[in-house]
Amino acid sequence: MTQGNGTREGGVLADVSALGPGGHAVVVGGGLAGVTTALALADAGVRVTLLEGRPRLGGLAFSFQRGDLTVDNGQHVYLRCCTAYRWFLDRIGGAALAPVQNRLDVPVVDLARPEGNRLGRLRRDALPVPLHLGRSLAAYPHLSLAERASVGRAALALKGLDLADPALDTQDFGSWLTAHGQSARAVEALWDLVGVATLNAVAGDASLGLAAMVFKTGLLSDPGAADIGWARVPLGELHDRLARKALDSAGVRTEVRTRVTSVSVNENGGWSVQVPGETLEADAVVLAVPQREAYDLLPDGALDAPDDLLRIGTAPILNIHVVYDRKVLAAPFLTALGTPVQWVFDRTEASGLKEGQYLALSQSTAQNEIDEPVAALRERYLPELERLLPRTRGAEVKDFFVTRERTATFAPAPGVGRLRPGARTKAPGLYLAGAWTATGWPATMESAVRSGVGAAAAALGTPGRSRGLLPDFFEEAA
Ligand SMILES: Cc1cc2nc3c(=O)[nH]c(=O)nc-3n(C[C@H](O)[C@H](O)[C@H](O)COP(=O)(O)OP(=O)(O)OC[C@H]3O[C@@H](n4cnc5c(N)ncnc54)[C@H](O)[C@@H]3O)c2cc1C
Repeated sequence: MTQGNGTREGGVLADVSALGPGGHAVVVGGGLAGVTTALALADAGVRVTLLEGRPRLGGLAFSFQRGDLTVDNGQHVYLRCCTAYRWFLDRIGGAALAPVQNRLDVPVVDLARPEGNRLGRLRRDALPVPLHLGRSLAAYPHLSLAERASVGRAALALKGLDLADPALDTQDFGSWLTAHGQSARAVEALWDLVGVATLNAVAGDASLGLAAMVFKTGLLSDPGAADIGWARVPLGELHDRLARKALDSAGVRTEVRTRVTSVSVNENGGWSVQVPGETLEADAVVLAVPQREAYDLLPDGALDAPDDLLRIGTAPILNIHVVYDRKVLAAPFLTALGTPVQWVFDRTEASGLKEGQYLALSQSTAQNEIDEPVAALRERYLPELERLLPRTRGAEVKDFFVTRERTATFAPAPGVGRLRPGARTKAPGLYLAGAWTATGWPATMESAVRSGVGAAAAALGTPGRSRGLLPDFFEEAA
């Protein structure tokens, strides 16, 4: 048996046949990518062991207890067009707990406008694309008439972009918007409103390829594509408890609190996976860990340019949690302009709070605030909430805390596309998964699930052997 990282002993490049029923696969990492890989492989008849370093499954999308409150580390939403994540919810029996709204409807409050006249809405009609958004855009009060017309023209130009063109990834979205007549105001009040939340970058910092992917798929593919879904229960209920139940029923051996320290080729040309106190032997290994950890675990020669993994940047998301003694927000969520507050979600029911209301502020692109002390954030955000939600003015703040995710997503910067590896490595039987791999999607739950199915397909030897064994959406994505 070979030991340690970075070894090519035992012939990393030896030929290992595709994983078949009865073969053993070890999946490292129990985030959405790893759980998906494990389920997809087990469903195809493979014996699977899933190893997760933390005490729970769910990776970057999890819950924890704070007294009686069940808190998500960060508000998560998905869109109707996220076919892979929706498959995942179905597969774990959680779809009814995270439904999609009937029709896209986002209240947008602009605090720079006079009180009483601040509310705009982004919603859709039951008309074909792109007319489904036409009426809402025509009535959107936060842009001038000329800006609204120019947004329509830019949307059509975006629809015409070819997502398969690698040149798109070399440009930034902000410059493209400017070149297509978008004012700074149109970028702030419309493009960034959607782009910051989905990409975790402002337009000027985002790859045109990823931005075009998000806007084309979400807003310009199907009338219902951008309808928003979110969990009405804590994320842990879905990504940990129900995921664990599905894994157990599929026969996956799941070990939490089990950190993998090395992966190496064994003398039979298979794989040895080292965890404290045990070495697991496997026919195939899927590394479904963040890019930095994948870099550390990859044996030499597994990727042509392993250092590319370290060049994929990361971006933070901050969530600010406020519990009031009374109801202060009637809508399930809203978004705001003219204030540092980005998106506000009502978390009361999901958290189990019995009295008052619990709001979570989801703050993307939080580079400037991620390390600020709680007191400073409290001083900034409570007055902003008073401006935004008049009913907070007489309300008592029962609790105020923050959750900080410094590496919430990979940075969707121009050029990131060529740094993201696919599922296959040069080492036979060793595969990669994770939202950061080459799925074409930004760092989302959708990307994580897609990558997991992609890794399972690669391990099973697509297209031949996995045909009929993988979820339907995969054919469409392949
Ligand atoms: C605050 C926040 C808000 C977000 N909002 C949204 C949103 O609204 N919509 C959306 O779609 N996405 C959102 N995302 C992104 C989404 O959560 C991630 O893209 C997705 O969960 C990533 O899943 P993953 O499986 O690829 O990686 P991860 O979740 O990072 O999972 C990797 C797992 O590997 C484990 N691991 C690492 N090293 C080892 C080792 N050596 N041995 C064993 N295990 C190991 C880790 O503990 C982890 O559990 C958000 C993320 C955050 C943090």
